[in-house]
Amino acid sequence: SDLLDGRTSVVTGAASGIGRAIALSFAEHGADVVVADIREEPREGGAPTHERIAEETDASAVYVDCDVSERTQLEEAVEAAEEFGGIDVMVNNAGFALGTPFLEVTEEEYDRLMDVNLKGAFFGAQVAAERMVENGGGTIINISSVEGLQGAGGTTPYSTSKGGVRLLTYSLADELGGEGIRVNAIHPGLIRTTLTEQSGLVGGDAEEALLRQIPQGRVGEPEDVAGGAVFLASDLSDYANGESLVLDGGLTST
Ligand code: NAD
Repeated sequence: SDLLDGRTSVVTGAASGIGRAIALSFAEHGADVVVADIREEPREGGAPTHERIAEETDASAVYVDCDVSERTQLEEAVEAAEEFGGIDVMVNNAGFALGTPFLEVTEEEYDRLMDVNLKGAFFGAQVAAERMVENGGGTIINISSVEGLQGAGGTTPYSTSKGGVRLLTYSLADELGGEGIRVNAIHPGLIRTTLTEQSGLVGGDAEEALLRQIPQGRVGEPEDVAGGAVFLASDLSDYANGESLVLDGGLTST
């Protein structure tokens, strides 16, 4: 499809998991991609995302070392998009989860989680929006979580960060709407990635109980999230601004 033909995107955390699926789908729909990550190799194995894009699609892609907790590194990722004509779509996807019980969370753990999950999305949006204002528009997609919609004991710092990402999205939709910039969030449920496999949520003992809570009766795949991202990046969603797209198989509907 040519839904994203001629667009240029920056996807953080695009070496692996959900970000990788988003980057590949964007390229399949015609967008060039800057893969911004702290590691080039996918956590789940296989060829690096930018190499797969070059081999399997007509789009162009480049990998940029970028720790989203550092604003200057986010600037470099957005700068790399100039090679493809300048950023049109920013996806703030990089993030991780922390399973430490609330009473045991250290200040260090808290700071790193917030620096990546919340500060990373905040300044990712800022560096992208600076350029988009100059360009006359763009779209920003923030990857929150169902845990940014409702609290979850045992992952309190994570829920706190993802709730922040949700309200960041609403605030920016209001603040940037007049600049031709749409800002939306995706709230994935339980998705099969290294993140959920290593924590035992997928493929471990916890999976069966979780599946009972998911009306569709299956774990989500990274491609399920990528479909929503393509929609929010494209003109199909031209009147969506400040929207929370929940992709969880019905988990939070019950
Ligand atoms: P993943 O661990 O499979 O991939 C995350 C990618 O982000 C990795 O390539 C990693 O190197 C990169 N990354 C980590 N820290 C970074 C940093 N500081 N700067 C740049 N890149 C960094 O995880 P995933 O499951 O694909 O998660 C992607 C996003 O989706 C995260 O924000 C996560 O919170 C969110 N999410 C995931 C699920 C799920 O079920 N997997 C559910 C809801 C939300």
